[in-house]
Amino acid sequence: MAQRIETESRKLLSRLQSVMADASAGQERLDRITHLIADSMRTEVCSIYLLRDKDTLELCATQGLAPESVHVTRMRLGEGLVGRVARSAQPINTANAPAARGFRYMPETGEERYSSFLGVPIQRLGERLGVLVVQSRDAREFSDDAVYGLEVVAMVLAEMAELGAFIGEGAALAERHKQQVMFRGACAQEGAAMGHVWLHEPRVVVSRPVADDPEAELARLRHAVEQLRIDIDELMTRAPMADGEQREVLEAYRMFAHSRGWMRRIEEDIGRGLSAEAAVEKEQSNARARMETVPDAYLRDRLHDLDDLSNRLLRRLTGQGRDTGAELPPDPVLVARNIGPAELLDYGRRLKGVVLEEGSVGSHATIVARALAIPLVIHARPITTEALNGDLILVDGDQGVVHLRPEDNVASAFRDKMAMQAEAQQRYASIRDKPAEALCGTVISLQMNAGLMADLPSLPSSGAEGVGLFRTELQFLTRNSVPRRGELAALYARVMDAAGGKRVVFRTLDIGSDKVLPYMKKTEEPNPALGWRAIRVGLDKPGVMRMQLQALIRAAAGRPLAVMFPFIAQLEEYMQARDHLLREMDREAALGHVLPEKLEIGAMLETPSLAFAPRRFFEECDFISIGGNDLKQFFFAADRENELVRKRYDTLNVSFLTFLEQIVHRCRDTDTALSFCGEDAGRPVEALCFAAMGLRALSMRPASIGPVKSLLRRVDLREARAVINEARASGDQSVRPAVMDWLKRQG
Ligand code: PEP
Ligand code: MG
Repeated sequence: MAQRIETESRKLLSRLQSVMADASAGQERLDRITHLIADSMRTEVCSIYLLRDKDTLELCATQGLAPESVHVTRMRLGEGLVGRVARSAQPINTANAPAARGFRYMPETGEERYSSFLGVPIQRLGERLGVLVVQSRDAREFSDDAVYGLEVVAMVLAEMAELGAFIGEGAALAERHKQQVMFRGACAQEGAAMGHVWLHEPRVVVSRPVADDPEAELARLRHAVEQLRIDIDELMTRAPMADGEQREVLEAYRMFAHSRGWMRRIEEDIGRGLSAEAAVEKEQSNARARMETVPDAYLRDRLHDLDDLSNRLLRRLTGQGRDTGAELPPDPVLVARNIGPAELLDYGRRLKGVVLEEGSVGSHATIVARALAIPLVIHARPITTEALNGDLILVDGDQGVVHLRPEDNVASAFRDKMAMQAEAQQRYASIRDKPAEALCGTVISLQMNAGLMADLPSLPSSGAEGVGLFRTELQFLTRNSVPRRGELAALYARVMDAAGGKRVVFRTLDIGSDKVLPYMKKTEEPNPALGWRAIRVGLDKPGVMRMQLQALIRAAAGRPLAVMFPFIAQLEEYMQARDHLLREMDREAALGHVLPEKLEIGAMLETPSLAFAPRRFFEECDFISIGGNDLKQFFFAADRENELVRKRYDTLNVSFLTFLEQIVHRCRDTDTALSFCGEDAGRPVEALCFAAMGLRALSMRPASIGPVKSLLRRVDLREARAVINEARASGDQSVRPAVMDWLKRQG
C-alpha cells in the first residue's frame, strides 16, 4: 500500500515537473498544475492561493471552482480556512468544510458544493508563500498519506515560485526579491555605508526539487549525513575546552544529526519523489514555521540549532556555500544572522558595512566592527531571507536602519547624507592639527581608544594626541589559545612604533562578564557583570597578567610605558596589581632586559566605590581613567548590554554629572591626572559637558575626535558650566535640554 502511494506521488511530481519545465505562460502553467493535482488526487477541486502582500491571499489558479473568481477572490491571513492554513502554517483536513471553525463562504467561487477540504501551506524556509487546496464533494477526511503527499507537492511549488516560474499577471512572488525593504534594527556602530549585499552564509538554492530515483537520493542523503556527523564530532574534539554554551550547541547538533525522527521524515519525503535537498529543506521549513510559534526560548534555540544543522546538510548536498569561490562584490556589505569576531576580522576593512539579524551592542563582533570603524546594524530581522547576493543596500548605522534594494529617491537622499558627512569630515580634517581649545582658552586633550594593530594608522589622521586606552583583550578573544609572551611583546612593540612616540596607555586584560575567552573554562555566575572579571581574575590567577606585564616591559625596550589596571574597586586591589608590575620590573631587570625609561601606573575608575576610596589611592595612582561604560551601568544599576534599560538613564543626568565632578575634585586635590575613556567621551554634547565639569582629557573612537574637537572649539566652557549649574539648581533631571537649548542659541 505504502509502496503504491509513494509510486503515485512520484508520478505526480514527475508530471508536475514536466509542466513546470515547459514554455507556457505563467498563468497557463498554474492552471495546468491545478488540473494535474486534482486529477492525481481524484478530487473535483484544486486551487492555488498566493500571498499578494504580507497579509492578502489571492486565488491565482483553480480547477473546479468558478473560473471568474481567479484573481478576484481574496482573503486576509487568518480569514476562512485558507487564511487559517496560511497563518498557522499547518494543514487543515476536514470532511465537512462548511461546519469547520472559521469557514467563510465565497459565493463567487461556487464552493458550497464541496464538503471535504484539505489545505496545506506553500512555504519556503518558514516564509509564507500561499496555500494549496484540494476539495471534493463527498464527505471524506483525507488520509495522512494524502496530506504528506500534498505537502510534498506544495514544497515543489514553493521552489518553482522562488525560481520565477509563476510570474504571470496574478502572481507577483518572484518580483518580491526585487522590491525595496526597510529594516529597523539597533545601532551598534555609527556611520553610513552604501554597497552590495554579501551573504556570509548564502542561501542554498534547491534547483532540482524532484528526483526520479529515490534510491540514489537516499544514498546521497545518507552519505551527506555521515559526513555531517563526522564534521560535528571533529568540531567537538577540536573544541575540548569549549565553554558550556558552545558545548551545549554542539551536543544539540550531534543529537539532531543522530535523530531517527528527523531522518525518517526526510527519507519518507524522498520516497514521495523529492530530491534529497528538497526533502531536507521541507523539514527545515516546518522547523522554521514552528520556531515562530514556540514561546519557550530554550526550545526556540534548539529549533535554531536544527535550522543550522539543516543548512550545513544542504550545503553538503548541493556543494553550495561559503567555499564556492565567489568573489566579493564591489563595496561589500556583510549580511548574516550572526558572526564571530574572528570571522569578521578575516573580512577586515574590505567591508563597507555589516548587518546582523542577531548580535548585541556589547558582543565581540560589535567590538571588532567598532575597532574597524565599520557601520554595524544589529537585530535587522529577517534580512537574511530577504537579501540576495549583490543587492544594493544602504546601512544607516546612526539610526539603526537598513534599506535593501532602495528606490531611487531613498538612495539619492542617502547619498546626500553621505556627502554631508564627507563634508563634515573635510571640516574636521582642516582642524586636525589644531588643539581642542575652547573659546575660554581651556585646552582639552583628545586621545583615541584602540584595540587592534589595525587601529593605529588612524592615529595621525584623527588628530589624537595619543592612545588613551588600548584594550588588550582582542588578541586574547579572537584566538583558540592564550597568545605567547613573545607574540604579545612583538605586537605591543609594533603598537608603540606605530604611535611614533605618542603616549599609549595599555590596559591589562579585561576579561570575564561578556568577554569570555573561548579556551578558558567558563565559571557559571549568576551576575557575570558583577562577577569574577578583569583585575579580580588577574589577582586571583596572576599567571596571564604577569606574562602580559613582562611582554609590555619588553615591548617598551627603554621607551616610556603606561599601564592601566581595569575594574579596580578598592585601594588594596590597586596596590596588589601595582606590586605585580613592580615585581616584574625587578625580574626583567635581573634578566638583563632594558627597563622603560619612565613607568606610569594607573587605574580605571569603573565602580562607584573607587570614587570614595581613601586619599592614598589617589596619591598612589599616576593617573586615573574613568571607564564610563561600566561606571554608568553600576551607578544607575542598569546593564549596559540590556536594550530594555540601557537608554533609560541619560549620561547628562544631574546625579551622574555631579558624581563626575566629585571625582574631578578628588583628583585635583592630589594632583592626579584624570581622563574619561568610555563611549560617552566620543559624543560631542557629552564631551562638552564633561569638559565643563572639569575633565581635561577625553579618550574616544578615532572617528569621534573631529566632531568633538569641532564643538569644543566653538564654545566657552565657563558659559556651559553656568548653564549646567542653573539647570542643576532648578531641579532638572538631566541638563541635556538646557545645554541643547543654549547650543541652539549659539547657532
Ligand atoms: C568602560 O567601561 O568605560 C571602558 C572603557 O571599558 P570597556 O568598555 O572595555 O569595559
Ligand atoms: Mg569597562
